[in-house]
Amino acid sequence: MRYGSLLPPRRLITRTPTDGIEANKLANNMEVTEKKTEQVQRKRRYGFKVDGKTYYAEPTSADIAEAIQTGQLETRGLQQHSDELNEEWARVPVLEERATVVRQYHARRIARFVVDGWTDAISICVHDVLEDGAHRLLAARYKGDANIDCVVVKCNKCEMV
Ligand SMILES: [Zn+2]
Repeated sequence: MRYGSLLPPRRLITRTPTDGIEANKLANNMEVTEKKTEQVQRKRRYGFKVDGKTYYAEPTSADIAEAIQTGQLETRGLQQHSDELNEEWARVPVLEERATVVRQYHARRIARFVVDGWTDAISICVHDVLEDGAHRLLAARYKGDANIDCVVVKCNKCEMV
């Protein structure tokens, strides 16, 4: 007896990789799917905590617009340059001012994606909660993009598990 039609498609496992990117996606069992930008939920806002107090550093549309107008496009990614950025931010002793500097960084990073675009899909979980790619998501929202490319990864930030 065969249950083939009842099983989920196994295409990702059986398909032969044709190039490096494709092989990488297959290795991670990731396929790019398009989601409605408004459907992707972001659970965390930018900010930092010192002595139990949270300092928000979430950029506004006006912050992003200003970064675009003044051509201040941040090329340093948050994860890849975390040591350098944290050092930079730690040098601002007044925490309210530090929050402004961090907010500016995020605005400029988003502005970079708005102006130059991006190719890497953002990561979401099966519950459409953002796992990685907040700057890209915020850039898509800023531009008013109806859809955004996503890959589905394990739940981590979604709190549904
Ligand atoms: Zn989830």
